[in-house]
Amino acid sequence: MSTMLKLFCALTFLLPVKIYSAENAVLITFDGLRWQEVFGGIDENLAMHSEYSVQTEQLMQQFWRSDSSERAKTLLPFLHNTVFAQGSYVGNRLQNSCAAVSNNWYFSYPGYSEILTGVVNPSIVSNAKIPNTEITFLELLESNSVYAGQTAAFASWDVFPFIFNVERSGIHVNAFSIEPNPADEYESLLNRMQTDIPTPWPTVRNDFFTHQYALSYLRRERPKVLFISYGETDDFAHDGEYDQYIYAAHRTDRFIEEIWTTLQSMEQYRDNTVLFITVDHGRGENPLASWMHHSSQAATQRPNSGLTHYSDGIVGSEATWLAAVGPGVADTGLLRTGANCLTSDRIAATLMELLDEDFRNYNPAMGSPIHELLESAL
Ligand SMILES: [Zn+2]
Repeated sequence: MSTMLKLFCALTFLLPVKIYSAENAVLITFDGLRWQEVFGGIDENLAMHSEYSVQTEQLMQQFWRSDSSERAKTLLPFLHNTVFAQGSYVGNRLQNSCAAVSNNWYFSYPGYSEILTGVVNPSIVSNAKIPNTEITFLELLESNSVYAGQTAAFASWDVFPFIFNVERSGIHVNAFSIEPNPADEYESLLNRMQTDIPTPWPTVRNDFFTHQYALSYLRRERPKVLFISYGETDDFAHDGEYDQYIYAAHRTDRFIEEIWTTLQSMEQYRDNTVLFITVDHGRGENPLASWMHHSSQAATQRPNSGLTHYSDGIVGSEATWLAAVGPGVADTGLLRTGANCLTSDRIAATLMELLDEDFRNYNPAMGSPIHELLESAL
């Protein structure tokens, strides 16, 4: 072997080998959208229920198909035809595929903290606006110069600034409130619209605003890591409005498609961006009325939960689903997990791995990457 060749081999050996090629990651959540609708489309009993659906006829006409897989594709075409078809997904419990939260509560703050930090902290027991003592993977990555100032989050729910602990993390979080420093005419218009159009819930805004602020920021600032949390699905469900819950799910699917096509239209993101989609908790199924709720037994049995009559908790509300597509993600389609449910505390480390960052260098307490979702490394 020539000296040059020896030198080349030695150098190759010394150089860090980049396993995955994703340069950017986008994590999107639907709040509390059930796996039942994701994989089975609309529920006939709820769509036809006089108490839960005012727009039964329109709902059935637009979304009912006799075949469950056709029904699911009709409700969430982008998820099925692009993300599931080109990537990997988990959570169709009718097909031996299981995803779940591992926190003890099955509601939002513990769920989002688990997804974003990779850690289940037993002191997080409510949705109260308490700054998170755990650190999101966005904040962890911010400590690396490659990602400094390159992460951002957009959300409909007003608790996210606390989940991200913005005072400590300094992450750009636009949640519920208007943009205090509108960058252009369009953001000024969004601010005026959000101010002058009634906000549907005291703590959650319409997802249109979250989506538009996120798109505007994405096009202008081009962050490497972006989190978007759409919230309408959960709030319409809590209100018992199944028709609106379904319309919100269908809109959100279209919003996510728009994010994806925007990414693919931009040089920085094309073919090097991972898209990951999941939920913070599931909802009930049996009895029928439990579809509106989500809470573990430990949560329903607390005084003032309003759900104490559900003595076993909202059964099934720990059930989630997750999906990913993009470079480094296996194109397996449905992952059959058997009884070994994949848990939300492994999502953050999975995204870091896809970005070629080892979570153990940032926070070894995080759940480990879901290797079943990844292309086998070399
Ligand atoms: Zn939630």
